[in-house]
Amino acid sequence: MTLRAPTNDARKKAKAAGLQLETLFADTIFASVPGILYLYDERGRFLRWNRYFEIVSGYGSDEVARMVPLDFFAGADKDLVARRIRDVFERGEASVEAGFVTRDGRTLPFFFTGRRILFDGATCLAGMGIDITEQKQTEAALRASAEHYRSTLDNLMEGCQLIAFDWSYLYLNRAAARHNRRPNEELLGRRMMDAWPGIEDSEAFAVLRRCMEERIALHKEVLHVFPDGGRGWFDMRCQPVPEGIFALSIDISDRRLAETRTQVLLDELAHVTRLTEMGQLSAALAHELNQPLTAIASYVNAAHRTLKPVSDPRAVKAAGILQKADEQVARTRQIIRRLRDFVEKREPDRAPQDINAIAGDAIALGLVGVNQANVTLRTRLDRAVPAVFADKILIQQVVINLMRNAMEAMAGSPLRELTVATSAEREMVEVSVADTGTGVPDAVARRLFEPFFTTKSQGMGIGLMICRSIIEAHEGKLWVTPNEGGGSVFRFCLPVATRLEDEDA
Ligand code: ADP
Repeated sequence: MTLRAPTNDARKKAKAAGLQLETLFADTIFASVPGILYLYDERGRFLRWNRYFEIVSGYGSDEVARMVPLDFFAGADKDLVARRIRDVFERGEASVEAGFVTRDGRTLPFFFTGRRILFDGATCLAGMGIDITEQKQTEAALRASAEHYRSTLDNLMEGCQLIAFDWSYLYLNRAAARHNRRPNEELLGRRMMDAWPGIEDSEAFAVLRRCMEERIALHKEVLHVFPDGGRGWFDMRCQPVPEGIFALSIDISDRRLAETRTQVLLDELAHVTRLTEMGQLSAALAHELNQPLTAIASYVNAAHRTLKPVSDPRAVKAAGILQKADEQVARTRQIIRRLRDFVEKREPDRAPQDINAIAGDAIALGLVGVNQANVTLRTRLDRAVPAVFADKILIQQVVINLMRNAMEAMAGSPLRELTVATSAEREMVEVSVADTGTGVPDAVARRLFEPFFTTKSQGMGIGLMICRSIIEAHEGKLWVTPNEGGGSVFRFCLPVATRLEDEDA
């Protein structure tokens, strides 16, 4: 900045004034700049510096005058700054970020710039340093938070994918690698359609594409078929971000599987419920029963064989008991088989039968229980009843069942009378089992025949349901009425044999 002047003298004067002005101007700037300013020569002698330099460094002007620039740096920064200073003198300018060491030993992060200038005929470095503590802190904080977010993202259970506008993968976290079933290194930087040929036809990609194009957040559950044929259900959320789109995916295959399984279970349950109504459940129960029976039977057989040759009268008696037990097991087996046949075919094995004989057999079979329960048993069998068209064993089961219920109902009664009766009623034959037990309250009466309805702690609540389904399979009816003087009467009716035979013919 030179001022032109008309005469030599005037020029000199003007030059002096100009210089003064320049100095003043420079000093003002030097003083007011919010950074440290310095000017030193090639030997590192400080020629000028501003007040702020002294404030920040803590050195007085006398001290600065005796120092060289590298005195203000320590460690690796010393070499770095030395190189940059050399750069300035060789190439004209340079900048460096380095720690400025103050008089009291603090190191402040600074950003220095340097420029080569000619000052008073000497090559000098004029420069400025600004405190970047705040920027550094912000940067560190930003880096920390970015790292924090990154590591959070990295470790998130959800798969995270950042996809650029050109469909290249910018970021993928660990869960994404699991979901993709491919290492992230294989995908990063590549376009989705290159990494996954054919992906453009997938449901998942359709969601991503919509999000990318329409710039709207989307949420959908998609079934994804992998190139290896594997399938996975994903809960996908994607949203537009400045880089492109951000997709969050949760592998819900397990949940879906569980849902499917639950559905299958529910279907099965519904099926079971339907089957139960048909009495099919008793088949399953029969099966359950069959196992212990097999064990009993083999034990009985073994004991029977070993006892037979012995002549001890007690052994002979025991053998007789075992023989009975053996027959009992065989009979129970037969009942089970028949029950199962019935529930499987849902067709009773019907033939003309004498209902009194059936009732008599049932009573004989239930007699032990009757005696044990201290019950008075009465039978009122109508000798004149016509033959019924029935499955003998099944109907016997029904009677036994009703007798057993009756005895249970009388367990706490002072009067225990069980009456089994038969009678003819037009073209039907009726069988009744009356007891003097607790009776059936209305609320119970309405639900008696429902599957699994029971008022007993050990009850199963299927006996009456099965009885009713057996009777209905015979085109008969089963119902309950109160017994005069307390207790209840369970009755069922069956069609007589002739009527049905006539119809069949
Ligand atoms: P469970 O005997 O296992 O309970 P059932 O289907 O045979 O199943 O009977 C269902 C319910 O009907 C019984 O729990 C009982 O409350 C009632 N019930 C059946 N028979 C009688 C009876 N003779 N007197 C009073 N209540 C009865």
